[in-house]
Amino acid sequence: MRVARISGPLYFTGGKTKYNIDSHVHSGKWGPENARYTINDILEISEKPLELNIGGEQETNIIKYNFVTNLDALNLENGKPIKDELNGNLDLLKEAAGKDNIKLLAVCQPGYGSAENIEKLLSENPGKFIGLKFHPETLPIAANDPKVEPYMEIAKKYHLPCLFHSGLSGSNSCPRKIYEIAKKFPDVPVILAHLGAGTDHKDAINVMVESINKNDALLYCDTSWVDHKDPNGPALKELIEKLSNTIQGDKTDRILFGTDMPLGEFGAPGHKIKNFYSINMENVKNGLKKNFGQQADELIEKIFYKNAETLYNLSSNNTPPKKSFFNIIAKNKVITGIGIFCTGVGSIFYAKNKSNKSSSNSDTNEKLKTA
Ligand SMILES: [Zn+2]
Repeated sequence: MRVARISGPLYFTGGKTKYNIDSHVHSGKWGPENARYTINDILEISEKPLELNIGGEQETNIIKYNFVTNLDALNLENGKPIKDELNGNLDLLKEAAGKDNIKLLAVCQPGYGSAENIEKLLSENPGKFIGLKFHPETLPIAANDPKVEPYMEIAKKYHLPCLFHSGLSGSNSCPRKIYEIAKKFPDVPVILAHLGAGTDHKDAINVMVESINKNDALLYCDTSWVDHKDPNGPALKELIEKLSNTIQGDKTDRILFGTDMPLGEFGAPGHKIKNFYSINMENVKNGLKKNFGQQADELIEKIFYKNAETLYNLSSNNTPPKKSFFNIIAKNKVITGIGIFCTGVGSIFYAKNKSNKSSSNSDTNEKLKTA
């Protein structure tokens, strides 16, 4: 049975349906591409159910949540952020109003703003931001600079995971520098976005393993620009093999699916590849299928859904619907779809980096800085 996407999260699916969380997505202006994105651009890419071929089988993939940050607050123009910590994050909050599949991370601007802004934002908008975002390259400041620490105090106080852009070794966003700040706040989950953008990911993988074995920081990573064009999945293979066997046991719960869309090939003018979002997901999932055999399905479920659901504490009211013969999620009232069909069973509605040196599997970073 075909899956329908009507206005709002209303789906009718049959067959194999998989739920996913994209933990790394953006709205706003992105200087390196001279492009402006909106939440509508995000939804255009990932709101419709995606028909993917995984391990030789067709399955329907639904992105249940996108975790979004505002690029206006992550970019400098004329030496200062386009939007400050209050206006940038509040703009995004307004843009996301009423969209259940959008969750927000608040951009922090150490060196340019003040942690007090973030505290004000969080206290005045309780529950509206599920994490904090740092980009030590576009808002240049080393990840381990003392100016980052007051923000980490806020993260600790509000129990918020912190997503750090991670890049080249020795850069402001060097995985080891992020590890340094994470060690000072060992209860705060710190996510290495891109697992070291523009690298072969080995340094970031080793940092994660070291932190787990020493049990001195709570490091996670996301899969944005990792093996995104390589169905052999070499970096994730190495990462998972190492995290499966740490001194603390299996720590593959530290890996989150993310994309960085709509940047780069996902949607940037001149770089966009049609259906790249689906291609990316197919590559990563098929890489796991190929490399992990019988374990693959469990790993995919964790990396693409459960790990983010658990880390960001989304499970209480937001569990994915149970499968049924007609798997129906109906939350919105507005139906702008086309056609109504009735069956004896019921009614079915159809509607229709750093640019320096890049590894072979992250050539996007040769052309485009990641966020
Ligand atoms: Zn990003």
